[in-house]
Amino acid sequence: MIVIDGSQGEGGGQILRSSLALSLVTRKPFRIERIRAGRQKPGLLRQHLTAVTAAARIGAAYVEGAELGSQQLTFIPSGLHGGVYSFAIGTAGSTTLVLQTILVPLFFADTESTIEIEGGTHNPASPPYDFLVRSWLPLLRRMGARAEVELVRPGFFPAGGGKIRVTVEPSKLGRLELLERGALLGTRARACVANLAYAIAQREVAVVGEKLGWTELQAHTLTGSLGPGNVLTLEAEYEHVTEIVTGFGQRGVPAEQVASRASDEMARYLESAAAAGEHLTDQLLLPMALGDGGVFTAVTVSSHAVTNAEVIGRFLDVAVQVDGDRVEVRK
Ligand code: ATP
Repeated sequence: MIVIDGSQGEGGGQILRSSLALSLVTRKPFRIERIRAGRQKPGLLRQHLTAVTAAARIGAAYVEGAELGSQQLTFIPSGLHGGVYSFAIGTAGSTTLVLQTILVPLFFADTESTIEIEGGTHNPASPPYDFLVRSWLPLLRRMGARAEVELVRPGFFPAGGGKIRVTVEPSKLGRLELLERGALLGTRARACVANLAYAIAQREVAVVGEKLGWTELQAHTLTGSLGPGNVLTLEAEYEHVTEIVTGFGQRGVPAEQVASRASDEMARYLESAAAAGEHLTDQLLLPMALGDGGVFTAVTVSSHAVTNAEVIGRFLDVAVQVDGDRVEVRK
């Protein structure tokens, strides 16, 4: 059995989620020890536990250690079954991270799937909904993936209660080649508030307009959210890739500061030339490794991406090679 050290690299939740996805597709059982040892609250939190439950359902898996706070888990899949599934995290934990655990495996399943996941949809330190659908998913589609993701209800920390609905068809994942961004087609900023003053969103986009010189600026009030929330989404759409930078409103942090930080992060991407930003880089490795591989240019290769590449190497005979800003996933 493959034994994974959950404390390797940055020792976060990605080691578990990638292991689950890889195990489902390869049907290789694994045991993971020291889960999230690098984090302040180690072990399985609700989001990670829901990812385990979701993987176990679609993989008809035998599981040991699937409890809150558990730092060890054994996972033995026996199949890979599409179908109609519904998962509730029970907190504002990230629905998109749960989805990323099972989405790529479901392309390899026997039938199509419809999945609903409840929890947070716009979380710091996770792919926000807009990043998932505007940046990551279009590249998977280019590889041949057939999936649609819909926002049923937004969910923010700490209230949660958001929901995404996803349809997935079995798909063959081809090679991804993404060396150039292509021409810049458009830039836009969209600030959203839920159960908070509209002026917060207006102040945020005003800062983006000043700092980046962008003119397509939208301020919105979201309906349907259980609790308060504020998200600022900056989008740079190129011919071959779309970069999304996100800022989150926080109690005690002025809207101007949220917008200024996000604008600075976007400015760094705009000044560089490589195609994939930091987050896209670590999130492309798994689908590429399970598909036909490929090559892309990356603004930066984070320790998160390096750890992910190491986990991939434990399940698959795939090399992730970094040469300057080129990242190649070679099968
Ligand atoms: P932890 O163990 O810290 O709770 P976690 O389960 O929340 O970890 P991480 O291991 O930190 O997850 O992985 C978070 C994932 O979210 C990474 O793939 C990262 O690229 C992605 N991510 C974080 N912030 C953003 C962002 N602003 N936009 C897109 N993706 C993001």
